[in-house]
Amino acid sequence: MEELKKIWIDGDFVNWQDAKIHILNHALHYGSAVFEGIRSYQTKKGAAVFRLQEHIERLFYSASSLELKISFSVGDIKQAILELIKINEVNECYIRPIVFLSYGKMGLNPKGAPAQAAIANWPWGAYLGGDAPIKVKISKYIRPHPRSTVVGAKIAGSYFNSVLSSLDAQQSGADEALLLDFEGFVAEGPGENFFMVKESKLYTPGKGTILAGITRDSVIKIAGNLGIETEEKKITPEELKSADEAFFTGTAAEICPIGEIDEITINNREVGKITKQIKMAFEEIVRGKNQKFSEWLTPVD
Ligand code: PMP
Repeated sequence: MEELKKIWIDGDFVNWQDAKIHILNHALHYGSAVFEGIRSYQTKKGAAVFRLQEHIERLFYSASSLELKISFSVGDIKQAILELIKINEVNECYIRPIVFLSYGKMGLNPKGAPAQAAIANWPWGAYLGGDAPIKVKISKYIRPHPRSTVVGAKIAGSYFNSVLSSLDAQQSGADEALLLDFEGFVAEGPGENFFMVKESKLYTPGKGTILAGITRDSVIKIAGNLGIETEEKKITPEELKSADEAFFTGTAAEICPIGEIDEITINNREVGKITKQIKMAFEEIVRGKNQKFSEWLTPVD
């Protein structure tokens, strides 16, 4: 990966190469870390971070689910992110804050293990496919049962489900996986929420087994603003056959059109009209070209 100058650790900006942890780090062994994925975009007025407050609030929510104590405030973490972008001189980047149980105690009960916080950023282009619709495979893995994890939290250990399903999809020639929930309904991708369009209306799985994505929330609001209705609904794999269009949403993936799901071809593998409309509106908003949504952007300077 491309290395930048600094990484923020516990209040200090350290050299990229020096951002190291001990091999007996609790999080390395048990996945006891929580993290975020955020993007910064180039706008006319310089770099701006998209929905920074919501991402940091989710980080604190995730941390509370593991009883991880962050010794910084929401404001401190936001400030550190803005400074890091300036120091590393990359306006368009992906930002990864992580809070983890670190070195000092082993064993599954985390009580007594100290917590650390870090933030890194790096340039990251299209995470999936770019503009061309991608090929998706319904995974042999399912999303974790809501009673086997804290569904709304981004807990590192839970992401092994995402790693396995991505690997499985790619091994069978697909670009990305689509996971069902424990009841067999469509849930989400390994790192993306799912939408389908039918008769000019959006349908997306409701909260419960999915990570309620910030991009998902943005898309629902953008669609509403365009006069497009969204319904949260339990979607069966069978119903995917009737989709006029489909797409994934996520901070890394942004708005990613889907052209195939298993044997189903969607909109002739072309980007559909509504997907295009939402994708264009999203791209304008993140680059500060739509005043109506300007409160979603935090300027770096
Ligand atoms: N689902 C999962 C499992 C994810 O990891 C992500 C990425 N954070 C998303 C959905 C999309 O969330 P967001 O739009 O907040 O990035």
